[in-house]
Amino acid sequence: MVVCPKCKSEIDVEEEELEEGELLSCVECDSDFEVAGVEPLRLSKVSDEEEADEDDE
Ligand SMILES: [Zn+2]
Repeated sequence: MVVCPKCKSEIDVEEEELEEGELLSCVECDSDFEVAGVEPLRLSKVSDEEEADEDDE
């Protein structure tokens, strides 16, 4: 079972079946994650915005 990095809820997917680049959605916190790597499994948050710079000018 995969655990959401954000809210720690379990995401209903089989870890063994994940591939790099695959997208996951957490139904609890409504976040999307991309599989950044397997063995060990790594999830990276997918931003809704393109080119989301932290630059708020
Ligand atoms: Zn979550």
